Amino acid sequence: MAALAITSCASSGKSPASEDNFDYTVDRFSDIEVLRYKVPGFEELTPNQRLYIYYLTEAALAGRDILWDQNGKYNLAVRDLVEGVYTNYSGDREDSNFKALELYLKQIEFGNGIHHHYSTDKFIPAFDRAWFEGQVELLSGKPSAEELATLLTVIFDPSVMAKRVNQAAGQDLILTSANNLYDGVTQAEVENYYASLKDTTDLTPVSWGLNARVVKENGKVTEQVYKADGLYGAAITRIVENLEKASEYAENDTQKAIIAKLVDFYRTGDLKKFDDYSIAWTEDTSSRIDFINGFIESYGDPLGMTGAWESIVNFKNEDASERTHTIASNAKWFEANSPVDPRFRKDDVKGVSAKVITAAILAGDAYPATPIGINLPNANWIRAAHGSKSVTIENITEAYDKASHGNGFNEEFVIDEATGKLLDDYLFITDNLHTDLHECLGHASGRLLPGVDPDALKAHGSTLEETRADLFALYYLADPKLLELGLLDNPDAYKAEYYKFMLNGLMTQLVRIEPGKDVEEAHMRNRQLIARWVLEKGADDKVVELVKRDGKTYLQINDYAKLRDLFGQLLGEIQRIKSEGDYAAGAALVEQYAVKVDPELHREVLDRYSHLDIAPYRGFVNPVYTPVRDNDGNIVDVTVSYEEEYLPQMLRYSRDYRTLGK
Ligand code: ZN
Repeated sequence: MAALAITSCASSGKSPASEDNFDYTVDRFSDIEVLRYKVPGFEELTPNQRLYIYYLTEAALAGRDILWDQNGKYNLAVRDLVEGVYTNYSGDREDSNFKALELYLKQIEFGNGIHHHYSTDKFIPAFDRAWFEGQVELLSGKPSAEELATLLTVIFDPSVMAKRVNQAAGQDLILTSANNLYDGVTQAEVENYYASLKDTTDLTPVSWGLNARVVKENGKVTEQVYKADGLYGAAITRIVENLEKASEYAENDTQKAIIAKLVDFYRTGDLKKFDDYSIAWTEDTSSRIDFINGFIESYGDPLGMTGAWESIVNFKNEDASERTHTIASNAKWFEANSPVDPRFRKDDVKGVSAKVITAAILAGDAYPATPIGINLPNANWIRAAHGSKSVTIENITEAYDKASHGNGFNEEFVIDEATGKLLDDYLFITDNLHTDLHECLGHASGRLLPGVDPDALKAHGSTLEETRADLFALYYLADPKLLELGLLDNPDAYKAEYYKFMLNGLMTQLVRIEPGKDVEEAHMRNRQLIARWVLEKGADDKVVELVKRDGKTYLQINDYAKLRDLFGQLLGEIQRIKSEGDYAAGAALVEQYAVKVDPELHREVLDRYSHLDIAPYRGFVNPVYTPVRDNDGNIVDVTVSYEEEYLPQMLRYSRDYRTLGK
């Protein structure tokens, strides 16, 4: 639920492309690529709005140490030690030990601790332990011998704190997870503790455990609550101070009220107050500037309760949101003209509207690795009663898109230069439009015949639902209506998305599957179902072909108009299956087209991909916000700049936003 990796009703923001000299790439190490993102539109805000954002970004950066400490109890001490050795070092910077130390430092900064942000496995340093100890000796403020011995074990012994989040069934998930959300308690003790607190008849239950570390005191299980006068108090106090400064520059009273509720929660640690805040936040959909700041996602807790601290400050991208609005407000036309049996169409369809935002800062669990969309709050009862807010962070998707240009992927897999150029010119906009149409209209379109069980398609339900939404988007991407609405400016633009979609469904998405395995994930199955079905149905007319050149397989699309027609035909059939609840037909389509992989093609794709140096994980440095002062030293405005590099940013944050630890 509420996973941050979702996209919603995204926009078709224009790609500022060609004349853009912005350098998106910052650093590359291990399995990581670090990028930077722009904050377009910041200069056009009023000074008051910029000041509001500025103090919210300060409140965001002030929480950095909380996440580090949540991720592991020695993380802050290890960071101090390694940063200390790194900055104090005066020897040869090409020395292999120093190089390995630098890599390790980059890794722990990216992981917000000693574990990988995604796999949660501990990083293994490649520098020599004795060399490191020698460097520590040279530090002025070095830890005591006892502390140092502990830290050296934590850094160098691969069996100690091996995994941050252990999800392996059959083990005590708390005792085997190295995070710092629990201490001295077993999984059973924690489960019993919360079972005794929970009232299962409560229709508006608080999110138990969201803001607490569970420990044993005098033999009794108890919570150390995260709050201004509790655990992480110094960091929370600094967050609160900056939220209160921000409040002075709020755009409206609604924002002031939201901040007041959040501050109240941070001061008391009372989870009821967090729900009050979440409701007020959810209901504010009209302010230009928005932010999250708190204990939000619980993926870092094997029991899924404690929220990792994070913050994202953002403002609405008015132009891009205008485009999602255009699509949503024409929902009726799209529904009435869709290539499905009129019996299965909705009489009155309401587009799902959502906004597109520009991130101004990423912090805590959203930094450096970050989501491209947010859908919050997480509490189920609040979502049911008050709804949720869905956003797409378009300056982040844009940075990803820009940074992918020239990474060799298209050169390897796209059939010819003309098609490559088509993708360069139109993939960003058509990809975003695809998402718009998929989310705003596709899922919302169509209806079930009376009496049909919405769960009739059972285990194949989500695959077929994604297939339906994708086909709706693909069909309309080629429609002249998009030109008429001003969403596209070239009648051939859609071909970029058609080519990429088919290439992905037939070949390139296979890079995410291990040799010998089937396609399992619903979105991947849906793409392969569509691509394999049209490949087969269009075979006689040679609409789409897989051709061999120099021993390599390429996708060749010969007839885009007929391809669109095939998408329309399949949409008609999938909608029929859904509307009638025809499980047997749905299962047959999935089994025939979506699951099995051609082992020879799979091997070829994996081999070609392995020769490209593409980092599996990416993250970002933040822009730098600099206050502008008047003659009396008062902050009157803020400027933004983008020059800061990766490690310098991390070292600056460690220095300027240090709130916890010794
Ligand atoms: Zn979907």
